[in-house]
Amino acid sequence: MVETQHSVEKMYIDGEWEASLSGEFLEVVNPANNETIGSVAYGGRKEASRAIQAAENSFMNWKNLTAKERGSILEEIYNLMIQERKELAYTLTLEQGKPLKEAEGEINQAADFVKWYAEEGKRLYGNVIPQSDSDKRILTWYEPVGVTAAITPWNFPISMVTRKLAPALSAGCTVVLKPAEATPLSAIKLFELFERAGLPKGVANLVIGDPIDIGEEFLTNKTVKKISFTGSTEVGKKLYRGSADHVKRVSLELGGHAPFIVFDDADLEQAVEGVLQSKFRNAGQTCVSANRIYVQKNIVNDFTDLLIQRFQEMKMGNGLNEDTTIGPVINKSAIEKIQKQVEDAQNKNANLMLGGKPVDGEGFFFEPTILTNVTDDMLMSKEETFGPVLGVWTFDTDEEVIKRANNTDYGLASYFYTQSLKRTYQISEGLEYGIIGLNDPNPAVAQAPFGGFKESGIGREGGFYGIQEFVDVKYLSIKL
Ligand code: NAP
Repeated sequence: MVETQHSVEKMYIDGEWEASLSGEFLEVVNPANNETIGSVAYGGRKEASRAIQAAENSFMNWKNLTAKERGSILEEIYNLMIQERKELAYTLTLEQGKPLKEAEGEINQAADFVKWYAEEGKRLYGNVIPQSDSDKRILTWYEPVGVTAAITPWNFPISMVTRKLAPALSAGCTVVLKPAEATPLSAIKLFELFERAGLPKGVANLVIGDPIDIGEEFLTNKTVKKISFTGSTEVGKKLYRGSADHVKRVSLELGGHAPFIVFDDADLEQAVEGVLQSKFRNAGQTCVSANRIYVQKNIVNDFTDLLIQRFQEMKMGNGLNEDTTIGPVINKSAIEKIQKQVEDAQNKNANLMLGGKPVDGEGFFFEPTILTNVTDDMLMSKEETFGPVLGVWTFDTDEEVIKRANNTDYGLASYFYTQSLKRTYQISEGLEYGIIGLNDPNPAVAQAPFGGFKESGIGREGGFYGIQEFVDVKYLSIKL
């Protein structure tokens, strides 16, 4: 076992903070300087199994509370999140790297989900359906699906958790969460607030450890009725396949490859501002990051000039520094993936305008990069970049750009910039994406449906749609 100077943070199972059964732990590093910032208990299948049992034991009591009673506990969690947002944001920046201001933004958004679902459970209305026979009555209502296993990624370590757990708990499900190994400290802080808010024991459980082991337990344990996953398409497909044996309900929020289309009638200043926000937020590590910037050929020079001018205002560094606007990427393999894409583009005649290489030093920094003359045969056209690298493609006609924008297995977010009403309809109807931002680089909010078409996922998170993922409809036919 590795020696550690840090105390080992624990998992939360059945209302108790617990070490792993084996005593193993995992060191958590700050991606800005590769220093160890803490240690967490590292479990596996056995801990997952215990947590599932705890969730099962508490399910009936939690389900039988009224939506109002569950909502008031969620309301208290919301209040605590707002009260503790500075500390939550600090932990998030420390283990994930994003600038503090962005981290605070994430906490606010994460809290928004909790507040929304504190109320939404009260609006899970059933129906009285007109009968076919005069001596019958038809009623429907919603019931929670049961024990839910949630798996979340490192890029939004708090908001991806509350976007699942808040609707699940509101609907009356009990949960077991496995957060990403890179960012477990944020989840631990959040669960401390659950405890303080008075969430009954066993209702929400936190297991940290081997993803394959824990995933296997989630899939094979019949008590788990629902898998809610956010992460890569590759892992999502494995979980989808694995859920078939017990016909578990599955929601998948997977990868994206967002096109960002700038038409020649767009407000260029607005489009450049939008692309910088979409591309460089979280150092480009978001599933809805603009990945392919298509600019109409007749404005590409003006667009690129303005882009480079605005780009100089960005400052890369440790997210804890107040003037930082771009933090590190998550780890070394992220750097390698980004570098491979940039080299491939250069080998295929893209023009490197700025950046282009990793930064020497201890942390995981890649220079914010702009490439022009990017073409559809390059890796960047096919793979998620997940880094601060912005490529500019060009196009001539509306029909052509829709076809090229849709030419991917992904279908999560897309963006376009225009002032034309006709284009507004034609392009938004033509894009095969679950989310579209028209002159809007940041469409995600608690009350709207977030999710993808095609291989970007199944189901939606947020708003009325999000809670539907955690309920089954029950139908009662009454003969009078
Ligand atoms: P990932 O490698 O798929 O990991 C996501 C989560 O799955 C982590 O908790 C990971 O655990 C766990 N995991 C890995 N292998 C597993 C397995 N075999 N069984 C069960 N769980 C397993 O993805 P990531 O690199 O963390 O996240 C980036 C990806 O997430 C990108 O593709 C991004 O687009 C996508 N994403 C999508 C959305 C959305 O809403 N659509 C939002 C954010 C991110 P460990 O950390 O322990 O490996």
